[in-house]
Amino acid sequence: MAENTRRVLLAAPRGYCAGVDRAVVTVEKALELYGPPVYVRKEIVHNKHVVTTLEKRGAIFVDETDEVPEGATVIFSAHGVAPIVHEEAAARSLKTVDATCPLVTKVHREAVRFADADYDILLIGHEGHEEVVGTSGEAPDHITIVDGPADVANVGVRDPEKVVWLSQTTLSVDETMETVRLLREKFPSLQDPPSDDICYATQNRQLAVKQMARECDLMIVVGSRNSSNSVRLVEVALEHGSRAGHLVDYAAEIDEGWLDGVSTVGVTSGASVPEILVREVLEFLSDRGFGDVRPVVAAEESLMFALPNEIRRDLKAAGMSDKMIHDAASLADSGSLH
Ligand code: SF4
Repeated sequence: MAENTRRVLLAAPRGYCAGVDRAVVTVEKALELYGPPVYVRKEIVHNKHVVTTLEKRGAIFVDETDEVPEGATVIFSAHGVAPIVHEEAAARSLKTVDATCPLVTKVHREAVRFADADYDILLIGHEGHEEVVGTSGEAPDHITIVDGPADVANVGVRDPEKVVWLSQTTLSVDETMETVRLLREKFPSLQDPPSDDICYATQNRQLAVKQMARECDLMIVVGSRNSSNSVRLVEVALEHGSRAGHLVDYAAEIDEGWLDGVSTVGVTSGASVPEILVREVLEFLSDRGFGDVRPVVAAEESLMFALPNEIRRDLKAAGMSDKMIHDAASLADSGSLH
């Protein structure tokens, strides 16, 4: 392969979404405000680099609130928690900071609303994923998890006239639509969610990959194995024509053999991935003759979320102005995790 035909297609948008940015800044600000250690229930976001960096700064990641000393501060991750977790934290007098992404909270509210109206709720999502555990905990008696098209055959409801589907925020859009199609064959009165549950960030990152996959001999997705939206990006790339696709946490995980005979490499990253990790992948590729980087822009993103109320209140009490708090929550390249 002639060297000058080598190029990289770089997806946009990629990397941090508004919910991840907010969750990571929440831990950073909590460490500044309260001093280490700050406890975080579950990984704040599903990215190895983010978690290990925050650990070095004094965050302690735990599986459950009973591992947090009484009276200490615990942050709930971006994936959300079931109401019982709030109750357990209150029983141990923990100070809680809820970094649940507002778009996950939106799905929780939908679940509560449909459960109150006595619907059967078919929650499309991955069994055991933290977000699905949290959402189903809002209405365990009304929610049935549907883990993809193959699971539809197992689904039963009390009243097929009163059934709605909701979903995890980070699924493959195409696969979810196929699951819904099969569910609707079975339950023709199936209602749609009031608005898209698969979030804007998941949809946009998949859209960019779809636009470039056909031209790619190889797609490198930067992201961790337990990151649902990152894993989906590899699947979407392969389904839409990329000849190969791999998920890597770091550039060092790239196998040089993957580049044999390759002229176009696609690069993207999951919604929990700091840009620095993508830059390292681009440097790795540049060193091997892939210095020609062309952006593929599928959408512009400008959404950002305010920090959790608890953090805003304590930042104000510490003398920060509204503008400083706003800037702290922004997507600017303000810290090593961005
Ligand atoms: S991927 Fe979507 S739902 Fe998850 S944190 Fe980001 S914006 Fe929120």
